[in-house]
Amino acid sequence: MSTSSSYHAAIAGGGLAGSLLALFLARRGMQVTVLERRPDLRVEAYSGGRSINLALSVRGLAALQAVGLEQEVLEHALPMAGRAIHDLQGNITFSPYGTAEHEVIYSISRSLLNRAVLAAAAREPRVQFHFRSQVMAAEPEQHLLRYQDAEGREHQLQADVLFGTDGAGSALRDAYFRLPRFNYSQDYLSHGYKELHMQPDAQGGFRMRPDALHIWPRGQFMLIALPNPDYTFTCTLFLDYEGPLSFQSLDSPERVQAFVEAHFPDLPALIPDYLDQFRVNPTSHLATIRCAPWNYGNHALLLGDAAHAIVPFYGQGMNCSFEDVLLLDQMLATHSGHPGEVFAEYAHKRKPDADAIAQLALENFVEMRDKTADPHFCLKHALELELEKQFPDFKSKYGLVTFSRVPYSLAHRRGNLQDDLLGTFVDGKTTLDGLDRQHIYQTVQTELALAGLL
Ligand SMILES: Cc1cc2nc3c(=O)[nH]c(=O)nc-3n(C[C@H](O)[C@H](O)[C@H](O)COP(=O)(O)OP(=O)(O)OC[C@H]3O[C@@H](n4cnc5c(N)ncnc54)[C@H](O)[C@@H]3O)c2cc1C
Repeated sequence: MSTSSSYHAAIAGGGLAGSLLALFLARRGMQVTVLERRPDLRVEAYSGGRSINLALSVRGLAALQAVGLEQEVLEHALPMAGRAIHDLQGNITFSPYGTAEHEVIYSISRSLLNRAVLAAAAREPRVQFHFRSQVMAAEPEQHLLRYQDAEGREHQLQADVLFGTDGAGSALRDAYFRLPRFNYSQDYLSHGYKELHMQPDAQGGFRMRPDALHIWPRGQFMLIALPNPDYTFTCTLFLDYEGPLSFQSLDSPERVQAFVEAHFPDLPALIPDYLDQFRVNPTSHLATIRCAPWNYGNHALLLGDAAHAIVPFYGQGMNCSFEDVLLLDQMLATHSGHPGEVFAEYAHKRKPDADAIAQLALENFVEMRDKTADPHFCLKHALELELEKQFPDFKSKYGLVTFSRVPYSLAHRRGNLQDDLLGTFVDGKTTLDGLDRQHIYQTVQTELALAGLL
């Protein structure tokens, strides 16, 4: 049995998660009103803010598949089969993410993805979008959102249930501070990020191989690049905000040039105008936001970044947000009463997984910027790939997070235990020669079983 069509949902924020949520709810028969601060993406191009492209993987794809959008989105996406690691000498080493052909992640334009989901939601007769409409305050007990339109006029919207998919700075979440025992934390990363755009080469082609996520790991900082279908790359430099070597310390073109020549000597040839871009492009911050509960009784629910903003190093923020929506929909599918009745159960079930991916993302920052250049790490990864090839039920930590839908909390615990065990097998080694794969596999399986993680 499914949620009855008599219910009306109001959604604060029609971005990635909000548009997808509107689509799912409408297909469950609900009337949906979405308040979105920005103009209509179908008419006006997306103007900046965060990353230009995103890595889309299995969890996000599962949600898109459920609403029939997977193929449409994939037509505009570029598969990335592994990491291309750039060392200081300009050598590039390719390291595949997995062994199966389908184990790729997809580089997709943020605005294109958002537009595709928004357009599909807007085609539903039960969905109404109000653009340039900013939620200013919420009164969840009254099922009420107060918002301002483009002319500054104030309105209010009342519905049976409220959803907050208005991102990391959620206005609906602000109302939760009136809840007794509402927990909230916001932890800024010491690093900020700056995007740089790499144009096509003189022949109009890609300047680097397009089937990889490029990484320049440099210990305390790193540069990454994702390909775009127009033969460009979007590069992102992650660097300390403050300190001896930081965005703050790179305060003149001479210093930026010296920094780039010392740490990314191949960059000037790839991005000849990098100095101008460095000066003009903004430096943005990154934070992890945790809060609980996500539900305000049966009245309101937070999903996506509004509930759990994470740092981007596992490429999972949007994937996790899409999976949130899919999981909520699955709960609504088996529920016949007021939709708010599933909120507490949803929040309770999903929270440990959001906490796990938040932690995994922080851990992966160290892995990307530091360990991808480390021979021990590379050998461990080579062993993981061997085991994946030989034993179909073995999955690396990265594979569990990115190419499977096992709960993030399980992927985290299982992945870390596996990592520790595999690390011990390659300790002191420079090759995999002489390692007994069968024995290693059996040992890992036994330890995982003992820890209750299989
Ligand atoms: C640099 C960077 C790189 C990233 N890379 C990846 C990646 O590769 N893969 C991945 O899966 N994730 C990635 N992410 C994370 C991803 O961007 C977020 O997890 C995702 O955007 C969350 O979607 P959302 O809809 O919850 O929030 P948002 O995308 O923030 O959408 C919120 C929406 O609400 C609207 N809004 C906000 N306030 C109001 C208001 N008061 N009233 C009305 N509307 C409002 C906004 O305009 C917006 O449309 C990255 C993030 C960053 C910063």
